[in-house]
Amino acid sequence: MGQWIILCVGFCVLVVVVLPSVIIRGCNFDIYPPTEQLSSFDHTVKVFVVLQNEICDMPLEEYIKGVVAAEMPASFGIEALKAQAVAARTFTLKRMTANGGQGCSAHPGADICTDHQHCQAWISQDEFKKRIGYINYPTYARKIQDAIDSTKGLVATYQGYLIEAYYHAASGGATDNSEEIWSNPVPYLRGVSTEFESKEPDFRKEVSFTVDDLEKKLDISLKDKKFTTYKIAGKDVQVISEERMDKPIEILEVSKAGRVKLIRVGDKVFSGYALRTLLGLPSTKMTYRITGNKVYITTTGYGHGVGLSQYGANVMADSGKDFVEILKHYYQGIEVIDYKNVQAR
Ligand SMILES: [Zn+2]
Repeated sequence: MGQWIILCVGFCVLVVVVLPSVIIRGCNFDIYPPTEQLSSFDHTVKVFVVLQNEICDMPLEEYIKGVVAAEMPASFGIEALKAQAVAARTFTLKRMTANGGQGCSAHPGADICTDHQHCQAWISQDEFKKRIGYINYPTYARKIQDAIDSTKGLVATYQGYLIEAYYHAASGGATDNSEEIWSNPVPYLRGVSTEFESKEPDFRKEVSFTVDDLEKKLDISLKDKKFTTYKIAGKDVQVISEERMDKPIEILEVSKAGRVKLIRVGDKVFSGYALRTLLGLPSTKMTYRITGNKVYITTTGYGHGVGLSQYGANVMADSGKDFVEILKHYYQGIEVIDYKNVQAR
C-alpha cells in the first residue's frame, strides 16, 4: 500500500510539476502585460520563433504587442501604432490554421513566424527593453499597450472578409497595385499616391558592386563572347574573346509607381523582386549607373511597396488622421470592424 502511495505521489509530481515545465521550456518569455482576449475562437497563435528555433503558443493580443514593438518605432504617432496593430492582427488572423488559414509555409505546424522577410517581425518584451533602453521603456510600453487595447478585436475587412493586410516600411513616394509586384490583382491592394507619401522619408540608398562581384552574386556574365576565326598553318582556328557588353544592364518594365518589374542584368532577366532578394536591396524602386568597373544601384523606399506604408502612416498620424482613416487610405474600400462580425471563409 505504501509503495502505491509513493508511486501515485511520484506520478502526480511528474504530471503536475515536471511535464508542464518541459512543455513550456524555451518558450517561457517575459510576456507582455495581458490584454483581455477575443472570445469568439481559439486565440492561441502558434508562433515559430526564429531565434529559438521552435514553435511557441502565444495569446493573440500579447503576440500582437510583440509585433507592433518589432515592426514600428514606438516613437511614431499613436494613430499609426493603432493602424499597425489592426494590420498585424488582421494579417495574423488570416494566417491562423485554427481560423481556416494556411499557416506559415516555411515552418510546418506554425501559424506564423518571426522572420520579417517571411511573415512578420516579433520581439519579446526583454528584447524590446534592450532595443529602446530601460529609461524609455515604461513610456513606450504603455503606448504600445494603449495601441493594442484601444483597437482590441478590430480587424480590416473587404466585403465582410479578412483582408491580406500587407505592409512595408516606406513607399518611396507611392505604393503599387498588388499585381504590379506579385501576380494576382487584389481589389483593396491598390497603389496610392497622395501628399502623405511625398512627405515620407525616402530612404535613398546607394550600393555598389564590382562587375566581378555582381557576376558572382547573380550567376551571370556581363560580357559578350566574340568568336574570331584565324587561319593558322592552313587550318581555321576559332578564338573566343570576351568584352564588356555595350548595355550590361537594362530595365525592361517598371510599375506605375516606378518599381522595377523586369530587369536584364548581363545575359539573364530577373524580376525586380528576385533581384532585390539576391542583392539584399531595400526596395525595387531603383536606378543604376555604371562607372569603370563598378555598378552603382540607388534605391528609394523600403520594402515591397504594397499595402500600408508604415512611415506614411506616421505622416498621416502627424497630420491628424486617425487609424481608421490611415487603414482606409492604404487598403482601398475596406471596413474596420470587430472580429466577431467577420464572415467565415
Ligand atoms: Zn513565416
